[in-house]
Amino acid sequence: GGDLERTDWVLNMDNVTISYPGRWGSPPYMAINNVSLSVGKGEVLGLVGESGSGKSTLGRCAVGLLKASSGHVKVCGTDITHISNRKLRPARKRFTMVFQDPASSVNPRETIGEIVGKPLRVHTSDNPSSIKARVEEMLERVRIPANWTGRYPHELSGGQRQRLGIARALILNPELLVADEPTSALDVSVQATVLELFKELQAELGFSCLFITHDLGVVEMLADRVAVLKSGQLIEVGYTADVLHNS
Ligand code: ADP
Ligand code: ADP
Repeated sequence: GGDLERTDWVLNMDNVTISYPGRWGSPPYMAINNVSLSVGKGEVLGLVGESGSGKSTLGRCAVGLLKASSGHVKVCGTDITHISNRKLRPARKRFTMVFQDPASSVNPRETIGEIVGKPLRVHTSDNPSSIKARVEEMLERVRIPANWTGRYPHELSGGQRQRLGIARALILNPELLVADEPTSALDVSVQATVLELFKELQAELGFSCLFITHDLGVVEMLADRVAVLKSGQLIEVGYTADVLHNS
């Protein structure tokens, strides 16, 4: 099974329950029910499950975008269970998240260079020329021409925009990346290119990853282990080949 004996965990979620407040007097809705899950150093854990099973909720909680109602969350050595947003901010340079729609987390008035360089400006005291060099290097890694830094996100194709989001997420060399269906809004042929690039970057840079997807082909291609969510509960965790063979 997938119960690895290791000490180098990058993400530990321990008996996590996450409830959304009920609206109009209805009781809270428990989207995640007592889930324990870990991601090891350098590992890609695929998180699968039907739409509405709680994948995004769990992913957002792993990076502190959503607080657990009970349980514990430790990421890159920091216990973020009850952390304030002010204290979460400096810790966030070690972990980040990419979303299905990169446009949802970028400012359309910022240029590509500003967008990709922002984490460096926020989290480091690097000087402008070294930031520029690092941004150009990162753009080339995701196959966006380095001299496009003055362009705007709306000038890019869907696949290019997703690669821009990946460049921004990886520019600080995070230890953990939570990827929430980063390719599912793209055309199938574009999906394949972005996934190949993602796989290559993960192998090169070695970041750990919680990769959310509903696509078992994606899991087979990328994930070392797979966790299966159903109605907010974890029903299976194991090595990819074992889990796919059983399903
Ligand atoms: P998935 O990513 O697997 O599709 P989600 O984590 O988005 O699942 O949602 C899990 C459940 O929580 C769904 O029933 C969804 O309707 C509910 N949910 C998600 N976000 C909210 C919210 N902000 N408020 C209330 N309920 C929510
Ligand atoms: P700032 O960028 O100044 O820290 P916010 O905290 O409001 O401002 O976050 C800006 C954007 O980053 C928002 O779209 C938010 O959803 C997203 N975000 C916040 N925390 C994280 C995180 N841990 N990983 C990825 N994105 C995040």
